Amino acid sequence: MRNKILAANWKMNLTLPEVELWVKKFNGFNWQSDTKEVRVYPSALFIPMLQNNFSHVGAQNFYYEPSGAFTGELSIEQLSSVGISSVLIGHSERRELFHEDNAFITQKVKAAADKNLSFILCCGENLAQREGKTHLHFIEQQLKSALSSFDRSKLSLLCIAYEPIWAIGTGLHANAAQITEMHAFIRSLLLELFGSDASSVPVLYGGSVNPENAASIFSCPEVAGALVGGASLDPHVFHQLWEQL
Ligand code: PEP
Repeated sequence: MRNKILAANWKMNLTLPEVELWVKKFNGFNWQSDTKEVRVYPSALFIPMLQNNFSHVGAQNFYYEPSGAFTGELSIEQLSSVGISSVLIGHSERRELFHEDNAFITQKVKAAADKNLSFILCCGENLAQREGKTHLHFIEQQLKSALSSFDRSKLSLLCIAYEPIWAIGTGLHANAAQITEMHAFIRSLLLELFGSDASSVPVLYGGSVNPENAASIFSCPEVAGALVGGASLDPHVFHQLWEQL
């Protein structure tokens, strides 16, 4: 049985003093568990300092080339050299605001897999697709494209996060029926693509998870944890999610 995952995606939030305070407050709670793990995805600046406190610190972003004239970018090689645990790929904010298309995301998956680095592959439909009932087809396209050159021998590196765009940072969240439908769909797609070994790939939910809705989200079949934005910025709130996982 793989651990359940509670992953904090801080996005472009928290300054150095705020990160230090976050760690101090975090350490005031009990996070011991044999069945659950915390992951932190901070701004890249804070990765080394957070590695002193957390066993799993990941990067929110990277560029797929190994090195070269790519001003402002970080490579998998560089991140691996400081002992990073995993990376996020395909987050809707990267897709929308920074125009990362499916082909680009396929390259990022290839770069991470080639270096044997774990990754959380995010997927999610927008509201028009949800209302037009094309959400399943859209997710299928996203995942088939991202994983088109991914080999089943690397399945232990893969984690999926289903994050409906209309639920990210909006206060709206998918309901239990919507999450159950999508997670079952993603599982069957993974089994179709990679065979029975894909039954152990964790599939997280993300999108306005908070202490009020966490219990119902975590009780949905196939939900292996959550990727959390806003509610991860306060360790007290984040711990309330942890207790319900
Ligand atoms: C996210 O950024 O992945 C996310 C789910 O954000 P929020 O929890 O704020 O909706």
